[in-house]
Amino acid sequence: MFDVIVIGAGPAGVVAALRAGDLGAKTALVTRDLFGGMAANDGPVPVRTLAHAARLMRDARQLGQYGIRVGAPVLDYALLLERVREVSCAVREHSAFRQQIDDVGVVVHEQCGPVRFVDPHTIATAGGLELEGKHIVICTGGVSRQLSVPGAELTATHSDAWKLSEVPPSMLVIGGGATGAQVASIFNAFGSKVQLFHAGPRIVPTEDEDVSAAVACGFRKSGIEVRENFGVIDSFEKTPAGVRMNFSHNGERGIAEAALAVTAIGWIANTAGLDLHKAGVETDNRGFIEVDDFLCTSASHVFAAGDVTGRLMLAPQAVHDGFIAGTNAVKGSTMDIPEQVAPIGSFTDPEYAQVGLTEARARATHDVIIAKINFDTTTRTIIDGRTDGFCKLIVERPTREILGCHIVGERAVEIAQVASVAMAGGMRVDELAQVPLSFPTYAGVLGRVAASATRQLNLRVPSEVEIA
Ligand SMILES: Cc1cc2nc3c(=O)[nH]c(=O)nc-3n(C[C@H](O)[C@H](O)[C@H](O)COP(=O)(O)OP(=O)(O)OC[C@H]3O[C@@H](n4cnc5c(N)ncnc54)[C@H](O)[C@@H]3O)c2cc1C
Repeated sequence: MFDVIVIGAGPAGVVAALRAGDLGAKTALVTRDLFGGMAANDGPVPVRTLAHAARLMRDARQLGQYGIRVGAPVLDYALLLERVREVSCAVREHSAFRQQIDDVGVVVHEQCGPVRFVDPHTIATAGGLELEGKHIVICTGGVSRQLSVPGAELTATHSDAWKLSEVPPSMLVIGGGATGAQVASIFNAFGSKVQLFHAGPRIVPTEDEDVSAAVACGFRKSGIEVRENFGVIDSFEKTPAGVRMNFSHNGERGIAEAALAVTAIGWIANTAGLDLHKAGVETDNRGFIEVDDFLCTSASHVFAAGDVTGRLMLAPQAVHDGFIAGTNAVKGSTMDIPEQVAPIGSFTDPEYAQVGLTEARARATHDVIIAKINFDTTTRTIIDGRTDGFCKLIVERPTREILGCHIVGERAVEIAQVASVAMAGGMRVDELAQVPLSFPTYAGVLGRVAASATRQLNLRVPSEVEIA
């Protein structure tokens, strides 16, 4: 019998298994597919590789502005997919975790198909693998939510991008959250005529309102047809050239047609087929596994970590969860989930990123000042010809605490990392304003925006740091 069995080898499962092994527990890691999970094989790594290709296309189009004469870039999608596979493979091969997992003696069962519970302590696969564990950590991640309208089977998800042989001439993207926005932005850059349909009033709805507006504006400028508040989908039908979406808005019928329709309408827990009831593990009303602050489920010997718990569904959070669940599976519930600064970003064109509270949420709960610097006034963005965007800082007036930072534009995600470090380190805004950030850099905008906030607080700002 194993001390700990971990199900799923994404970021959460790999770290949970490594931690349990490190603590001396006899540990098994069992996973349906390849080591690395969604992050390495179907999520951030391959999608970021496509996004990098999209960026190279953009960069190539800018060459003329700097006096470099070349022809218009032409994408060979099949070659790009080869590169995606190469990158995913390299990421898996160079995963430091894999070596460490092997070094601590974790038994890894890869590509063994879906696992299900047979009884509270036993798991099995259709292929005949059966393992018993004193403690079990479930890290099976999430899956795309599917539409339930007639013809929904005619739609694709982001995962089907890897099976396309060429870039579709036109695409409907349904859902303007993080994944839908990325799909729309990438395939628009590759030359697809993209229509992005979002049921709510604004795309990327979990972002600050100014960010949503700027991203929608940037998308429209680059040729994406953004349709917010578009109504409800009635059905999909096959057409000679692809697919037709029938929808209604305020009683009026509408249609949209394209070669391919991709849905990105949310992410649900990947628990179907696990037979959780046999282990006494309960899910919440959204289907995610219910956990307490120690990531323990309703069955005291079973823990869950990562996307399957439905909290912030990002790779770094999955890694942290994995460490906590691995620790608690071995030592008992001793380590709880800390409150953390959590930067979130997306590699669209324009990029956008956030950390902390949005302006609306901050205004509802705090006495705040808002500082904003537009990218058309900062030196590096002017040098690089990337002047669309802004950086916004939200500061609590009485304490000078930085509550949030929101960025749209070139290197937004990297800028958010610097803001996150400042926030995690508890820097006051006037302290951030005094750091002589390198010039001319993208992150330098943080010095400018912090100086602007500091001035609003009637505090002194050294003039020499006001360059970016
Ligand atoms: C398109 C896209 C882009 C993303 N971009 C980013 C990004 O830029 N940055 C970021 O931080 N996050 C991003 N994410 C989210 C990130 O991929 C997830 O948060 C992260 O992978 C969650 O890790 P996990 O270990 O919980 O689950 P996963 O990585 O999903 O791993 C789940 C594992 O469980 C296994 N499994 C599933 N069911 C079973 C079963 N029944 N039996 C056995 N094994 C099973 C799978 O094979 C897999 O190994 C993105 C996601 C998507 C979809």
